[in-house]
Amino acid sequence: MAGRPPIRVDTHLHLTRWWPDLPHTAYRPDLDYTTAGLLREMDAAGIERGLVIQVHEAPNAADALEESRSIREASGGRLLPVVTVDPTRGPETIDRAIAQWEEDPGLAGIKLFPGYLPFYPHDPRLAPLYEFAHRRGLPVLIHQGDTLDRKGLVKFARPIEVDEVAVRYPDVAFVLCHFGNPWIEEAAELVYKDENVYADTSGLLAPPSAPYFERMVEQCRARLLSAIVSIGSADRVLYGSDWPLEELRVAVGLVDGLELPPEDRRRILGANAARLFRLASRAAPASGSS
Ligand SMILES: [Zn+2]
Repeated sequence: MAGRPPIRVDTHLHLTRWWPDLPHTAYRPDLDYTTAGLLREMDAAGIERGLVIQVHEAPNAADALEESRSIREASGGRLLPVVTVDPTRGPETIDRAIAQWEEDPGLAGIKLFPGYLPFYPHDPRLAPLYEFAHRRGLPVLIHQGDTLDRKGLVKFARPIEVDEVAVRYPDVAFVLCHFGNPWIEEAAELVYKDENVYADTSGLLAPPSAPYFERMVEQCRARLLSAIVSIGSADRVLYGSDWPLEELRVAVGLVDGLELPPEDRRRILGANAARLFRLASRAAPASGSS
């Protein structure tokens, strides 16, 4: 439609009071870590909507959901909740979480944190969760690759470990977060082979003050481009930032600088996410400034 800029969607944001490490990991002294602060940054980066991903440190599903709901309401529906559960706490914890999620028709997805937590995505304890995702048509986002936490075990967070569930649940969409970094090529193989697998571009860059930052951006673009060329399509690649760990303008710039046809960059920056998360059918924010 002429006149309306293409939609931009950030598929990977974190906003929660249960992030004990944030003071050590957020590198910006001026960070306004509130719904209003995030919305201001989104406006500045031309991002219309976003997915706010709960963290596994939340005490229980009920409190986490309450927090998500208040963020959704405070944002006028621009920020949609992605819920999580720690499967290592046992089957009852998973069942309780699903019972909570059943009550909320506004969920946008489910996130799992293998690597931070010692379990594989193909852990049999997760079967009820994948069945719930199937029933509700919710994508499952899976943390991949490097962990911020040095006690994390990255063997649990390799793209290859997602293949089995992607094949077992062909009607569930899976998102490989951080494009599997450092296993970007391995992630590309899954996106290529499994039509229900996506990858996001979040959290791939260090803070701009880091040594070699400019070269890091260049190298990262080259690796993403190589992955997208191997896949042969940009249709299942999703823009994400991992805010507040990565600034929105930096994360958008990473994708904007990819040597791809402009329509492919637009797909990555929003159109793919709008389709996958069915954003048109979710209460949309009042558009424009008029
Ligand atoms: Zn994240």
